[in-house]
Amino acid sequence: MYNFYYDNTMLLLIPAFLLAAYSQYKVTHTFNKYNKLINKKDLTGKEMARVLLDYEGLSEVEIINIQGSLTDYYDSSKKVLALSNDVYNSRSISAVSVACHEVGHAIQDKENYGFLRFRESLFPVVNFASKSVWILFVLGIILSLRPLVEFGIILFSIIVLFQVVTLPVEFDASRRAIASLSNGILDESEIGPAKEVLKAAALTYVASTLVSLLQLVRMVLLSRDRD
Ligand SMILES: [Zn+2]
Repeated sequence: MYNFYYDNTMLLLIPAFLLAAYSQYKVTHTFNKYNKLINKKDLTGKEMARVLLDYEGLSEVEIINIQGSLTDYYDSSKKVLALSNDVYNSRSISAVSVACHEVGHAIQDKENYGFLRFRESLFPVVNFASKSVWILFVLGIILSLRPLVEFGIILFSIIVLFQVVTLPVEFDASRRAIASLSNGILDESEIGPAKEVLKAAALTYVASTLVSLLQLVRMVLLSRDRD
């Protein structure tokens, strides 16, 4: 019990943590690199998103400016596309790539994309799970309460499922973004950099899913040790 935080199963997580750290570095580095390259259409991320949304018949979607870096998202319940400062105001390849990716989510919403709907259906339980999973699991281990440990594992499995379902949603949004950008919006020479930015962003999702998956394996191993 004393070694709970420092057991050998920790080693499992090291490669995943390294990948997560690398992917964070990679996305920031790639975004900054192409943030210096102005797109030839000379549109800001906001302008680009507006043009694409209107083209898709999504005039009701509002575009707002939010704080932070790479904090951009699309909220299907409010029909709001939130773009961070660096994307909203910038005319770079990075900015329009991210803006188009978020428009991709708005189009998924319009088309009732299955993985998006399934992901959203998990919101309430994932909310509960992420708040309570560690308290329950650690209490279960300390008090040797098997049902509590198992409940913790089930809750964490749902979080992992959520992250796995997020992957096709993210890949699909980027695929749609590249398709739109290739459709005469960006110059041919600008497509490569746009793909690079979106690939780097996708890698962060893969890495954090891997961390969680191994974390789940670790929980199962820890629970077995105490049988
Ligand atoms: Zn996304």
